[in-house]
Amino acid sequence: MKYIGAHVSASGGVENAPFNAHEIGARGFALFTKNQRQWKSAPLGKNNITSFRENCEKLGYLPFQILPHDSYLINLGHPEKEGLEKSREAFLDEMQRCEQLGLDRLNFHPGGSLGKISEEECLKRIATSINMALEKTKGVIAVIENTAGQGSNMGFKFEQLRFIINLVEDQSRVGVCIDTCHTFAAGYDLSTEAGFKSTFHSFDEIIGFRFLKGVHLNDSKKGLNSRVDRHDNLGKGVLGIDMFRYLMHDPRFDNMPLILETPDETLWKEEIQMLYKM
Ligand SMILES: [Zn+2]
Ligand SMILES: [Zn+2]
Repeated sequence: MKYIGAHVSASGGVENAPFNAHEIGARGFALFTKNQRQWKSAPLGKNNITSFRENCEKLGYLPFQILPHDSYLINLGHPEKEGLEKSREAFLDEMQRCEQLGLDRLNFHPGGSLGKISEEECLKRIATSINMALEKTKGVIAVIENTAGQGSNMGFKFEQLRFIINLVEDQSRVGVCIDTCHTFAAGYDLSTEAGFKSTFHSFDEIIGFRFLKGVHLNDSKKGLNSRVDRHDNLGKGVLGIDMFRYLMHDPRFDNMPLILETPDETLWKEEIQMLYKM
């Protein structure tokens, strides 16, 4: 079974997200559990937590169909002490919010060196940051998203994700989210059937499908190996529609959230229907 959804709004409270997902015919969803552009937000209220859990149950969303996303400000590989500490504190808060909401995974971008430390040093910091958060929480998997490799961002090569995973102490609580736009922009050609096959063959060899905890379904405005992160609606970009058909027919992507982050959200309902028709 495929669980397709979109990154829906949680404005007015996290408890609204399941309704927003239901409205567009989604069988899964992503959300921010706090304002993604601020370092600090008020803690979740008891009412928010209870209503969120009730609404998910009522509308048929189980934790494995939901992929919360952390704040864009967090950089778990930050080269400087202050930025790193702030990021680690905020990330722990994000993990704890997921724990409170009964969610089992948190999707985040690994972070970047800002050109001030080596790739290896940055990846080691990211792994340490993950270990620190896992130690203080229970039941939530840290789901590292692959990136387009824009600027000094880490995680654009499967080997980098594997390097981080190797350093995580509790292997049962680390996972990966593959973003199709990022993958393509990072140089993996998903636009052809042969490219799709070989990309996910090497994904399986280097990382392993058992670590895959979600997918972001996005077309790309920028070309193969452009290293630029610009999402497009399905079939409107240079990645093209074929890849989404291969994925829909591939059982390795069953039973996990498959999330649209496409820019024109008025098309989400149609995009979900189109994917299910494939
Ligand atoms: Zn993404
Ligand atoms: Zn992106």
